[in-house]
Amino acid sequence: MASEIGADLAAVNDRIKKAAVRAGRPPADIRLIAVSKMHPPEALEQAKESGAAAFGENKVQEAEGKIDRLGRNFAEWHLIGHLQANKVRKAVRLFDLIHTVDSVELAERLERICAEEGRRELPVLIQVDLAGEPNKTGIAEADLRGLADHIENCGHLRLRGLMLLPPHFDDPEKVRPYFRRLRELRDEIVPGGELSMGMSHDLEAAVEEGATMVRVGTAIFGKR
Ligand SMILES: *Cc1c(COP(=O)(O)O)cnc(C)c1O
Repeated sequence: MASEIGADLAAVNDRIKKAAVRAGRPPADIRLIAVSKMHPPEALEQAKESGAAAFGENKVQEAEGKIDRLGRNFAEWHLIGHLQANKVRKAVRLFDLIHTVDSVELAERLERICAEEGRRELPVLIQVDLAGEPNKTGIAEADLRGLADHIENCGHLRLRGLMLLPPHFDDPEKVRPYFRRLRELRDEIVPGGELSMGMSHDLEAAVEEGATMVRVGTAIFGKR
């Protein structure tokens, strides 16, 4: 098993590198977030031994169990799933980067709880909903500027960039326009900031369109 995760991780790093080179980008500009949701702590330990340095979890509760077990300083911990109001305090304690801020209300609550918890700075990304799908999380493009301005005025939150969870298409070429649009918005609203986009099946297109963080689960840890 150890070698399997190690080999899969190496293959993913190779895919990132090749896509970066094709796009004329330094491979070091792209960070791999190993998405470990639904995998046990042992899998994370194996990935870390093979060089993984940042893990993405989509549920606060599940992440808490792993972080208790492995340690807050085991790796960088990223929250990539929707953050519910009643989990904000835990999230402020547990995560290095929250990818999924998508409303002024959530930003206000994070800001207040950072103050209460003595967390001086909390790096965040805004999750953008470009497709307007029903029941999707993320802020509408029309409201993005307002939320970014709000976060810029928060004393504790640090706006680092944008995140996208696009509609699912088997064909990555169908996702590419969404990646391109997120990059344009990043250039307008958080120039030089992070672009969190690209998963197991479409990371090449995301890297070619400018991703600085790819969130990859299945291709590293196998099926969930
Ligand atoms: C699960 C998940 C991923 C990883 O998806 P894979 O297809 O397994 O690589 C990336 N981003 C988010 C927000 C996720 O929930």
